[in-house]
This record gives sequence, structure tokens and C-alpha cells, in this order.
Amino acid sequence: AKKEGRNNYQFYNEKFDFQSSDLFLLETELRKADISKHFKLHFQPIVDLKTNAATSAEALIRWQHPELGLISPEKFIKIAEDTGLIIPIGEWVLRKVCQELKARQERGLSPMNFSVNLSLRQFFDSSFVSTVASILTEEGINPAYITLEITESMTMDVEKATQILYQLKDLGVEISIDDFGTGYSSLQYLQKFPIDYLKIDKSFIQNIGENMDDCSIASTIIVMAHNLGLKVIAEGVETEEQVSVLKGMNCEKAQGYYYSKPLPLNELHLIESDLGSW
Ligand code: C2E
Ligand code: CA
Ligand code: CA
Ligand code: CA
Repeated sequence: AKKEGRNNYQFYNEKFDFQSSDLFLLETELRKADISKHFKLHFQPIVDLKTNAATSAEALIRWQHPELGLISPEKFIKIAEDTGLIIPIGEWVLRKVCQELKARQERGLSPMNFSVNLSLRQFFDSSFVSTVASILTEEGINPAYITLEITESMTMDVEKATQILYQLKDLGVEISIDDFGTGYSSLQYLQKFPIDYLKIDKSFIQNIGENMDDCSIASTIIVMAHNLGLKVIAEGVETEEQVSVLKGMNCEKAQGYYYSKPLPLNELHLIESDLGSW
């Protein structure tokens, strides 16, 4: 059957442009993938700008395909959403993160908050909240060490999203709005949602050193967030200059290649002791 699949792919490859056959191949492969075996998580530290300590880290999924190599989430999350595979994949991510938190605790490492990205389809799935609740209970971790990252796309149905978010907050987790500023959504939801953090999208951070417009967008977001009682994380921070501009704006946290790229967990443990150079 596997051979037939390959032949089909060749067939499509001749008929369609590379991109669509690429998608077809990835979809076929994703359906076959053994989640716990072929996926892994990398963690990118999030640094407290006051103390320079890595107080949290974001879990980012990677697909290690036996033949195609490492596949970026940019390539397969959309397919996972369209096929519904995001449900088991998302569950695996949350469970894995909880298990890693537990392992950290057992190794006596300092507590660190781990954040998990959610997809639209996963968030609005009718069993999502109960799944989160059972994973947290089964893995026996303190929910205060978990942050769920949602995007503005999930705020379109304000009523429904508000309901889900309150249920999640009741479980004790933290909530972040990811990629803030890129979603074309109304800002009304900010008053209604029980959220803890705004993450300023990296497109607004990239040029804050040189570009006055980007600088005022970032500072406006930070002031607004603070007025609403929210904390701010700047993502995509790559230079020392960006760090000092963000510190000047009283941004709470930063994440980006300046500090570290996403790393396997054992390497994250290693760099934690290297705070001095930050
Ligand atoms: P995101 O949540 O906005 O994650 C940030 C992305 O920016 C990551 O890409 C990260 O590696 C990259 N990044 C970090 N620092 C820098 C920097 O200084 N400069 C630049 N240019 N980029 C930086 P990655 O890991 O390829 O993930 C891409 C997207 O895939 C994520 O964007 C997120 O939307 C999605 N994703 C990743 N893991 C998961 C997951 O477990 N579940 C779901 N639903 N989506 C995920
Ligand atoms: Ca994210
Ligand atoms: Ca983001
Ligand atoms: Ca993004």
C-alpha cells in the first residue's frame, strides 16, 4: 500500500505544481505519522527583562520525518487543522509539556512556566476544555505553570471564546494572546477576556531600533496592555538594541534569537545556568 501511495504521489507530481503535490504528500504522511514517535518539542526561553532570568519557555512542535527530515510547523499545522489531526497532535503537545514540567520538578530544577500554542479548531472543539482538565489532573501538575497561547483569530466569536477562556482560567492556567496586532480583530475582546499576557508579534519588533512607526506601535501596545492590567511579551527579539528599547518601554518579557533559538529540553536546562551573559 505504501508503494502505491508513492506512485500516486509521482502521478500528482506531474500534474500539479510543486506546492500542491507537496501538500498532498505532507497530508498523506501526516495521516500515517506516529505522533509520539515522529514529533518532538523544542522550547524557547522567555526572559524576564527586569531580572534577566528565563522564567518561562514556549513549546514549539517539530515533525521529524524518517525520510523527509525535519518539517517546520509552518508547513504542517495548517494541514493538521484541515484534516482534524490537530486534535490528537494538540493533545499530545499539552500532555508532553505537562510531563516535562513534572520531570523538571522531580529533578529539583527551579519552577518554570511552559506555554503551549493552540489552534483554532482545537480551541473550539467541544471536548477541548474537558481534555485540558483531564490532562492536568492525570499528569498531576500545578496548572499555574501552564500558559495557553491563543491567537486573535479565536476572538472572532467573542461570546463563545469568552466562555471557553473563563472555563480555562477556572482550571488555573494562564492565557496569552499570541501574534498580537496581526489579526485585524476588534479590540473589544481585550476588556472581556480573562487574559494575562499580550505577545507583540515579531513583525513589530524587528525594526523598533530604526523605525519610528514600529517603535510607536510597540510602545502603544505596551501602554494599552498595562492600562488593561495585562503583561507584555515581545517576540522575535534579535538584537541588544531591541532589548534596551523594550526595557525603556517597561515591557515585562522578551523572547527571540537574541537570547536563544528554540532548543531540545536538555539543552534548555544547560543554558539556564548561563544567565550572566544575557
Ligand atoms: P509562533 O507561536 O508565533 O512562534 C514563534 C515562531 O517564531 C517560532 O517558529 C520561533 O522559532 C520563531 N522565532 C523565535 N524567535 C525568533 C526570532 O528572534 N526571529 C525570528 N525571525 N523568528 C523567531 P516555529 O517554531 O517555526 O513555529 C511557527 C509557528 O507554528 C508558531 O508561531 C505557531 O503558530 C505554530 N506552532 C508551533 N508549535 C505549535 C503547536 O504545538 N501547536 C500549534 N497549534 N501551533 C504550533
Ligand atoms: Ca506562540
Ligand atoms: Ca507568536
Ligand atoms: Ca507567528
